[in-house]
Amino acid sequence: MDSVSSCLVFKLKKRQETQDENLFFVLHFFYTFVSLSQKKAKKTLTSDTHSMEVEIPTVWTDCLEIIKQHVDEQNFNTWFKPITPVRTEGDVLTIQVPSQFFYEWLEENYVPVLKKAVRQVLGENGRLEYSVVVDSGNQQNPSLTVNYPTGSGNKKNNNQQPNGNGNGHSHAEYSPFAYKALDPRTVNSRLNPNYVFENFVEGDCNRLARSAGVAVAKKPGTTSFNPLMLYGGVGVGKTHLVQAVGNEIKKNMPDKVVLYVDQNDFTNQFLNALQNLKMQEFQNFYLQVDLLILDDVQFLAGREKTQEIFFNIFNQLHQSGKQIIMTSDCPPRDLKGFQERLLSRFKWGLTADLQEPDFETKLAIINNKMQSDGIEIPTEVAEYLAYSVDTNLRDMEGVLNSLLFHATLLKKNIDLDLAKEVLKNIIKEIQSDVSVDYIQKTVADFFKVEMDQMKGKVKKREFVIPRQTAMYFCKRYTQLTLALIGENFGGRDHSTVIHALESVEDMMKVDANFKNSVDELTKKFKSRMSA
Ligand code: ADP
Ligand code: MG
Repeated sequence: MDSVSSCLVFKLKKRQETQDENLFFVLHFFYTFVSLSQKKAKKTLTSDTHSMEVEIPTVWTDCLEIIKQHVDEQNFNTWFKPITPVRTEGDVLTIQVPSQFFYEWLEENYVPVLKKAVRQVLGENGRLEYSVVVDSGNQQNPSLTVNYPTGSGNKKNNNQQPNGNGNGHSHAEYSPFAYKALDPRTVNSRLNPNYVFENFVEGDCNRLARSAGVAVAKKPGTTSFNPLMLYGGVGVGKTHLVQAVGNEIKKNMPDKVVLYVDQNDFTNQFLNALQNLKMQEFQNFYLQVDLLILDDVQFLAGREKTQEIFFNIFNQLHQSGKQIIMTSDCPPRDLKGFQERLLSRFKWGLTADLQEPDFETKLAIINNKMQSDGIEIPTEVAEYLAYSVDTNLRDMEGVLNSLLFHATLLKKNIDLDLAKEVLKNIIKEIQSDVSVDYIQKTVADFFKVEMDQMKGKVKKREFVIPRQTAMYFCKRYTQLTLALIGENFGGRDHSTVIHALESVEDMMKVDANFKNSVDELTKKFKSRMSA
């Protein structure tokens, strides 16, 4: 991995600079949701009051008295006041705290004092049970109760990690708590089991991103690739790759909670939680995740509230050593409609891109897929497809599925003729969305000219360039002959169109700005074709 990491262009974390901001934020966040949780905890307490033994509050109040002597006032108010006693049973006192993060903080910082207090009040065998309200996604099981491990609080149990997440936190002291978190085996990770590393073909176009993914899958949360931000155009394999990381972690580390969500799921869950006053459960749920994959983060643009909540979750996961992976259609610096503080976090770890696959990689992907489906595909057919499908890999997937369909169900031989026939149908479908009219409008808009200026005869440079560019795209993306293209531009003949195509090609070679414009337009047309 060393050679890989050394050639990866990654932005080193600016932890130092951001630490104060983090701390401020975490505290701020806590004050907000701690007060919420207090209200909730009080409610829980009242509804349980009848069944509770009378002395619980006293037991806890006595503990607090002891704790107070060892903790300064501000920390006491932040970390101990929000705790609510739930019940005592024999030597065991159960208390409730607002979140897993809260729990972990206590574990990190206050184990000795908690142990001392509980033992003084309940005797040498005194133990604590720990309870956290968590929304596991279904309404039947909204809270998690935690069982104390066997061994009545002796040091044998000090390998009992909260959540078993091995997140790099050292537990210097044996904890009086044992926290049974979400059961990773029952959490629906929302992963597609078919997206794995084994069938993700490596090529120059994705090598860096793939290596980073492999590294993260081996050591989630502990490499400097946190967050891992992968970006690239439509169909370059972002979703496949990030899900491969998730599947790999689930396979090798079944005690990790892995969650894949796309931006849409996340936003909907958030809005739902907001409407149903379940914000705390929503956050608590996310804070228990060991690997969070957020796909297509670019669609969070302009969604201030969702960004806010993601920012909270991001910070807390990151601080507790959990792994975050995101994908986007462009590098973080080009993301529009995002809060600056969120963008700066996106750049903390590693940013790596996936490019459109080259011929060789496409060929390997085709062979790989056909082989895994048990179909032989002649080399000339594979090469023909790799060469001809130049939109994106999702279209390639469509073509290959169609070929498989013909081969398996219709029992046809896969040869060049069949491939051409299939391709013809699919390419037509792909291209039907990009009409001459659409091209003309898009190009006119892009260069800020009117449609009639675009189609007209005036030879001013500011009209000629968009006109020729639009002709060029008509040639690329429609099946029209040169003569017909000319027809569509105020009845010009085919030689004018040829001249236009040549001019565009030449200009692209010498004028970088113009080339960028053509690239940007190309992206627009391609994304429409694959929408
Ligand atoms: P994106 O999320 O970037 O739009 P996807 O991950 O959905 O792209 O990929 C589109 C299709 O192409 C999927 O079926 C995926 O399995 C396939 N694909 C992409 N890259 C590769 C690759 N390197 N090897 C094998 N299949 C790939
Ligand atoms: Mg995707």
